[in-house]
Amino acid sequence: MSNPTFDNIRIVLVNTSHPGNIGGAARALKNMGLSRLYLVAPKEFPADKAVWRAAGAQDVLENAVVVDTLDEAIGDCGLVVGTSARGRRIPWPIVNPRECGERTWFEAQQHDVAVIFGREDRGLTNDELHKCNYHVHIPSNEEYSSLNLAAAVQVIAYEIRMACLAEEEGKLPKFEDWDMPPAKRDAQERYFEHLQETLEELGFLEPGNPRQTMTRLRRLYNRVRLDQMELSILRGVLTATQNFIFHTRKKLTEAEANKPSAE
Ligand code: SAH
Repeated sequence: MSNPTFDNIRIVLVNTSHPGNIGGAARALKNMGLSRLYLVAPKEFPADKAVWRAAGAQDVLENAVVVDTLDEAIGDCGLVVGTSARGRRIPWPIVNPRECGERTWFEAQQHDVAVIFGREDRGLTNDELHKCNYHVHIPSNEEYSSLNLAAAVQVIAYEIRMACLAEEEGKLPKFEDWDMPPAKRDAQERYFEHLQETLEELGFLEPGNPRQTMTRLRRLYNRVRLDQMELSILRGVLTATQNFIFHTRKKLTEAEANKPSAE
């Protein structure tokens, strides 16, 4: 079964330590019909150990895209899902692996989708998880919840394939149809920078110290799934706000300068 939708789905491994896991992930992808592997700053790659573990999936390794930052790996994606072996302090919208497969498959028919996996020793950072629309947790034994990285990739890749099969049988659940494409991740990142800058200029945020406010705002916007039109309207609102602040400050400074001295 080769279906072009598979090409719109990428599996992103962040800062992987063991090249064997990269090989294992490549094999898991190919077994399930996927082929796009992104490696964000892997500790050791290319590596013989990766080739051994990949077995017949060397082509996936050879075509793997190696980048320095997570933003480069997911910037052009309309949906980003982050995997996590444990709950985090600020909870995020969560899907189970089955829902992840179904949503990924449905959305990949329209735009690129990324599913990201973390480091063997400490998973994904909170900042990385906050770039995701959803989090997915594989419901494992609570007393021993962390799967081997390549095994976790296998579970998610399998669910994506199951969703593909469900669609062929007309059994894929219905998701909302929308008139506009969703905002891409890099446009959203630029929006969050612009929002923080504007909130600092307004005096709502302390410069360089947004505490949890930006995280909460990120979660709000991620939950809404902004489309491209909505995002550009919001960018316009920020620009108008910044212009207003600039002109108001200028007028105040001029008025201050023209004030007759008290003497
Ligand atoms: N000790 C780490 C676990 C890392 S396991 C931690 O506490 O976060 C390496 C990666 O495999 C994770 O970052 C995640 O991408 C994936 N993974 C492992 N177990 C998982 C689970 N139960 N659900 C979802 N992803 C899991």
